[in-house]
Amino acid sequence: MLSVSEIKSLLATPQKIVITTHHKPDGDAMGSSLGLYAYLIQKGHHVKVITPTDYPYFLHWMPNNSDVIIFTEAQEEAAKLVAEASMIFCLDFNTLSRINELGELVRASAAYKLMIDHHLEPEDFDDYRHWSINACAAAQLVYDFIVNVLKDGSFMNKDIATCLYTGIMTDSGSFRFPSADATVYRIAADLIDFGAEHWRIHQLVYDNATENRLRFLGHCLSDKLEILRESRTAIITVTQDELRRFNIQTGDTEGIVNYALSVNGIKLAAFIIERTDKVKLSLRSTGDFPANEICKKYFNGGGHRNAAGGYSEQNLEDTVATFKQLLTEYKTQLLQ
Ligand code: 5GP
Ligand code: MN
Repeated sequence: MLSVSEIKSLLATPQKIVITTHHKPDGDAMGSSLGLYAYLIQKGHHVKVITPTDYPYFLHWMPNNSDVIIFTEAQEEAAKLVAEASMIFCLDFNTLSRINELGELVRASAAYKLMIDHHLEPEDFDDYRHWSINACAAAQLVYDFIVNVLKDGSFMNKDIATCLYTGIMTDSGSFRFPSADATVYRIAADLIDFGAEHWRIHQLVYDNATENRLRFLGHCLSDKLEILRESRTAIITVTQDELRRFNIQTGDTEGIVNYALSVNGIKLAAFIIERTDKVKLSLRSTGDFPANEICKKYFNGGGHRNAAGGYSEQNLEDTVATFKQLLTEYKTQLLQ
């Protein structure tokens, strides 16, 4: 394990650093990664952000986005960077399977591995861990790491603040989840002081939809939403054919599950989508209902109690049937 003073002395001279984050990165994955990136380049390090896959267009405006390497599009370059790195920061994930093929390259690298994360049950692959499940976002922990652990608050700037604010805003549901406690609001205020334009960030992320996305959302809500009152559950299923018909791109399906959860009386919402290789599930829940338990037990996944995901090797129809079947097991909790 690396101590904080060892990390500080490493960071006192230029290092070759890779920052990576989970596949299909979301606002927190990109916000925490590009926030840490903006800090580390200021300190004079050679830094690259490598994402396992592509990510939504509404995150492409972020500072230094053009420096990001997407593993699936530049495998050799990414593998070389990982192999030659002296430090690898793993942000917003804690099991190497969450970064696909990149995972085994990271494991094999001689670099120090530093995990900054807020998910349950971390795998033991790291040399340093700044980890808390109480943090609303990995970006919150990156802020804490820079300001309170490394005591480098003087390095905070507009780019860092913009990225970290994006991560905190997206993972806290725009500051409305229980995880957005008073500390999170104080950090957000600091980030605004450091130059984050909260109104602009919100607009760029949430008021930036393509026409296709909005029409697809309309289709999901009017034609595909299924309400199971007897188990206080709402389901939206989407087929490959529908994805093609609406020309759906990475990011277009983000957040649709939350509309299903917004129906009164609904405690569990599922968005079940037929991808080319497998069926992906996104679950959201309210209160104490453990969406992550369902994903872990039935769908090779996990996540947070109120926001979790996983996948199924069954076809779409059978996956939906499995999902409806398992609801009986959770009936008491759903009706509580
Ligand atoms: P989403 O529904 O937005 O894809 O994912 C919500 C949350 O569930 C993510 O932040 C992540 O913590 C978790 N999650 C989603 N997919 C998976 C998965 O395949 N495996 C695990 N372990 N967690 C996942
Ligand atoms: Mn996160």
